[in-house]
Amino acid sequence: MGFKNYAELSLSKKMAESPQQVISFLRELAVKSRPQAEKEYEQLNQFARETGLKDDIQAYDFAYYAEKLKKQQFNVNDEDYKPYFEKNSVIKGLFRFLKKLFKLDFEEVKVPVWHPTVSVFHLYRKGNLIGRLYLDLEARKGKRDGAWMDEWVRLSPQYGRKNSSPCSFCVANFPLPHRIDLPPQTIRCETLFHEMGHALHHLLSRVEEPFVSRISGVEWDAVEVSLPVFRSLRHEPSVLKEFAYHYKTGKNFQHQKEMKLKS
Ligand SMILES: [Zn+2]
Repeated sequence: MGFKNYAELSLSKKMAESPQQVISFLRELAVKSRPQAEKEYEQLNQFARETGLKDDIQAYDFAYYAEKLKKQQFNVNDEDYKPYFEKNSVIKGLFRFLKKLFKLDFEEVKVPVWHPTVSVFHLYRKGNLIGRLYLDLEARKGKRDGAWMDEWVRLSPQYGRKNSSPCSFCVANFPLPHRIDLPPQTIRCETLFHEMGHALHHLLSRVEEPFVSRISGVEWDAVEVSLPVFRSLRHEPSVLKEFAYHYKTGKNFQHQKEMKLKS
């Protein structure tokens, strides 16, 4: 096919120009991030030794000691924040935010699903149905690991199909709580925002030619480019105000954080 190797063939449809460019990018990234990684490793190793670890810290210790160090340095404990990210309240808040941003209305619909925890929504804009979204967010036995978005139906009215609204699904594996005082199901907003970004890319495309519309309309190494922007919105105080409410007290996370900082 005229390519020297598989990497050249793969890149022929992508944003990066050559295998050399990709390798240089990765090498440069490694050179730039190494000093910071070494610094953080040293800091964590020292902390672990001071708090009782006999040998040097290993990869499998990182998460445990990083959580402990975070608690010591910033008085932050991930578990304390979980009650603010109960599944239904986050989803409702995310939809409120998307109404403001994209003028979208979401309506839950009862249609056949593959598991009782799956929820389904119709998306409307100015009263017109524009697509359907399935959310399957709970971890369960036998389910594939990780989180992803994919599509079933594309917008394709030019083929004369009666029901041409696009349809997409977001899947994640948020675990059930391990403590009785936590809400029945909490969500990692970073993951949900990320996959929802992909789903919206699919659902909101108005391009009618399936092979160049939606996520097929961008090179595969560019499909993630817009996501960090959308994902980072979850930190914005105005966005947090939309969805981060304590599942029992109804207090907003942002408000609590401000109070904590003041005290
Ligand atoms: Zn992604």
